[in-house]
Amino acid sequence: MKKLLCMLLMGTMTLSLAGCGGSKDDAGAGETGSSSGAESSSEAGSSEEGGSEEIATAQEGKLIMATNAEFPPYEFYEGDEIVGIDAEIAAAVAEELGLELQIEDMAFDAIITAVTSGKADIGAAGMTVTPDREENVSFTDTYAEASQVVIVPEGSEIASPDDLAGKKIGVQLGTTGDIYSADVEDATVERYNKGFEAVQSLQSGKIDAVVIDEQPAKVFVEQNEGLEILPDKFTEEEYAIACAKDNTALVEKINGALESLRESGELDEIVSKYIAADSDSAE
Ligand code: GLN
Repeated sequence: MKKLLCMLLMGTMTLSLAGCGGSKDDAGAGETGSSSGAESSSEAGSSEEGGSEEIATAQEGKLIMATNAEFPPYEFYEGDEIVGIDAEIAAAVAEELGLELQIEDMAFDAIITAVTSGKADIGAAGMTVTPDREENVSFTDTYAEASQVVIVPEGSEIASPDDLAGKKIGVQLGTTGDIYSADVEDATVERYNKGFEAVQSLQSGKIDAVVIDEQPAKVFVEQNEGLEILPDKFTEEEYAIACAKDNTALVEKINGALESLRESGELDEIVSKYIAADSDSAE
């Protein structure tokens, strides 16, 4: 319950995001070895927000997105291309802004640093808005509702999140699943670099449950026999795009782009390409 309250509070804080003044134009070069899927055109035909010349980004003309491509259906590899909801939303936003999207894949817990250090312009990674993260980055408006759910082996004695006390819980390092599982009484938290590694560990009986975001949970449970998602959610959360704390101009531009994608229906189209219509978890 405490967590739910916390989540609600976070939700209201999100509404008042503003960011600080100043601009970020002294950022260093982006990483090498990028894998860029969901390419965006740099032609910017439909931009209502003005041209890219007003936006200072890490590399001129580019929008560099930091992500962790282990998070289907938001970001994952299809061959050597990164695809998914975030990749497509970022591509559409980049196009609105007249910028070329470049996606950099990294560990989830490296994304905020990539943004704060100026190596990346945005973090788009099914990233939940939390008060702690808001100390370091400025979030855009939220673009999806999300939640942490509990995956257990079918027939487990864990029937609701309250039963996690004293259990071995697998999570992905640095995620909200990790952060909030640490509060479960007497539980041991096993941290994995990738969510699906936690799921594999659950399947082989090394841990009792996995706490992870609902949409990837659905994908992983579909791919691995003998597992199920508990009906009661562990937390309610919201996803937003992270920008450098002082880059108010970029936050505003992205919010404008998100708004026009929402109005045109493109946002819904992208989501429904990846998430079945009966889902209650995405806008
Ligand atoms: N929504 C979770 C978080 O923000 C997990 C995101 C992810 O693993 N990509 O911490």
